[in-house]
Amino acid sequence: MSDNGQPCIRCDFCVPVCPEALQPQQLYAFSRFQQHDQARRFDLAQCTECGACEAACPSRLPLVAIFHDEKLALQAQQQADAEAAHWQQRFERHQARQTHDALAQQERKLRKLQAKTQALAEGKPVSRPVSANTETPIAAKSPAQIQAEIAAAVERTRARKAALQNDKSGTQKS
Ligand code: SF4
Ligand code: SF4
Repeated sequence: MSDNGQPCIRCDFCVPVCPEALQPQQLYAFSRFQQHDQARRFDLAQCTECGACEAACPSRLPLVAIFHDEKLALQAQQQADAEAAHWQQRFERHQARQTHDALAQQERKLRKLQAKTQALAEGKPVSRPVSANTETPIAAKSPAQIQAEIAAAVERTRARKAALQNDKSGTQKS
């Protein structure tokens, strides 16, 4: 943004002539020093670029061009903010979906383990090994050994579920 090198002498001649009751001298300062939030707060968007302030300015500051450029900068900033919010929202939705799926998987696992424990308690045969990593065939294990493995698996699943729930509530708070 450029002006004609003349300083604003704070004469306020530009203030009473503004048909939108804006503060052109303030808007000039905010625009000049890229204080975009302040320019927005002082309603730069309401400026119609009528040129009345510029005509009244003894320093012959190119106020209209300066305000026009600042409006473009504000629009660009708004657009960038909206895009950032959009992508943040998409990221949070994706995270929530992943956590939801992982929780559902842990719940299914937990239900299966509970069913297995129940079957063992009732003396029914357990069809598969508790863990894929187990090296001892299920048939070679004692019921106590199987029960201990199931209990450990239930604990692991519960811990994983609790961790996921913590992650979920942490994401919702942030
Ligand atoms: S150009 Fe904008 S700030 Fe200046 S007098 Fe017109 S409406 Fe007011
Ligand atoms: S008329 Fe010009 S010099 Fe006077 S306060 Fe407004 S912008 Fe500054």
